Amino acid sequence: MTGSDRHAWAEPGAFAVAEGVFRIPLPLPTDGLRAVNVYALAHDDGLALIDAGWALDVSQRVLVDSLATIGYELGDITRFLVTHAHRDHYTQAHAIRRELADAGRVDLPRIAVGWDERDSIRSIADRAENPSDARAYPQVALLRRAGDPWAADALESIDPEGLRAPDWADPDDWLRHGDRVVVGTRSLEVIATPGHTRGHVVFADDENGLLFAGDHVLPHITPSIGYEEVLAPSPLGSYLQSLDLVRSRPDAHLLPAHGPAGTAVHSRVDELLDHHSARLDASVAAVAAGAQTAREVAQRLRWTRRETPLGELDGFNQMMAVLETWAHLVVLVERGVLQAHSEGGVERFSIPTAAIGSQQVDRT
Ligand SMILES: [Zn+2]
Repeated sequence: MTGSDRHAWAEPGAFAVAEGVFRIPLPLPTDGLRAVNVYALAHDDGLALIDAGWALDVSQRVLVDSLATIGYELGDITRFLVTHAHRDHYTQAHAIRRELADAGRVDLPRIAVGWDERDSIRSIADRAENPSDARAYPQVALLRRAGDPWAADALESIDPEGLRAPDWADPDDWLRHGDRVVVGTRSLEVIATPGHTRGHVVFADDENGLLFAGDHVLPHITPSIGYEEVLAPSPLGSYLQSLDLVRSRPDAHLLPAHGPAGTAVHSRVDELLDHHSARLDASVAAVAAGAQTAREVAQRLRWTRRETPLGELDGFNQMMAVLETWAHLVVLVERGVLQAHSEGGVERFSIPTAAIGSQQVDRT
């Protein structure tokens, strides 16, 4: 696959992926992800949008142009169903609604997101409202524990510019596992899939064999784990359970938030499970070879499809890599494969002595 084919999905437009369902890629300022897909579901009174995009002028312009190609405008949006509270999915819902309100509309679209996102949403809103507090990102403490004071310092020095409190207002509706959302003739089941974020949800349209998967299942890449405002105790543990949950449901066509639509969900979930199981094995091997902190383990692993060493990633991606490695180490502790202890505020991982003993016995 050439580079341009690989990114063809990010070209702007409104692409029919099922009867009355359109995939609309909206641009992102970050090179890595290129675009976020929002899905427009047509019904008698207008459109429901699954995910909303990042609140940026360019994103809204592309949305307006794309909706125009299928005969709609922003005022036709009746609701936003948001898979999780990352800014490339959530913030534009509030921005569009404010704009419609300013234009004098009374019937404003409702915004819904998973109940377990509320701590993160409120913490970000707080930080955006009080930038002078210079309250550190919650990940700063975790990065120090992970043995990465460099990334922690870098993160602490980031100016929270671009965070606008009104984009981080609460939604109108909090979605819970098992809720049913009726959109026209479709009935979407809300499935809680914590992992990528604590309150991530996917929307299953079983009758039509569709899964609006947000970032839970992506066709080309693995979703980041461990990067959210208020972190779960074991983000990867949650994520793996959520993959099992989706795997146990009927197979469907994948409608992801990043990447092309149409892959079979089950086969992609199997690949993701294999990927993490290989990463867990590699993490144990790194600890056995002497790495102790999450940072040190991340240095022994290779990153991205190109097998890049940690030190060659940019600062942001190094931080993501260390957080993700920490999440793998936590799962290994939960499984009893590794043990952890804290030393000077830094978490150090090792092979439990009992396990070393039994390995020695096995060898003799
Ligand atoms: Zn995303």
